[in-house]
Amino acid sequence: MKAVEIVCTCCGAESFLHREPVYEGLKKTGEELSCSACGFVFKSEAAIPFKEQTSAPEFFTDADRSKKVEVFTEGENKRICRYCADYVVNPFMQFCSRHKKEVQSTDSCPQFSPVSDKPAKPLI
Ligand SMILES: [Zn+2]
Repeated sequence: MKAVEIVCTCCGAESFLHREPVYEGLKKTGEELSCSACGFVFKSEAAIPFKEQTSAPEFFTDADRSKKVEVFTEGENKRICRYCADYVVNPFMQFCSRHKKEVQSTDSCPQFSPVSDKPAKPLI
């Protein structure tokens, strides 16, 4: 059972509510609600000095929001030579087959034409 925090009206301590079933013979007649620190018995549920839950734990915080951070927008990312159909990689250089010149994978180009689904081969 969840611990219930109280601020005891008797001893003044921040403690926990202690619930003890009260029996009359074999029949449960109620619960004795007492301070776990000093043992003071509260007369009723209404008399319990519940500690105010001002600092209730927040299980859903900013950390649960989307952390999606995109360094490049989709458009920027896709217009660089690395993703261009004319981008050719061999062990010695990265080459643009459209402009017949050496390029860098991060270069961008106005004649960019997107690769359909084939990713650029890694430079090994
Ligand atoms: Zn107490």
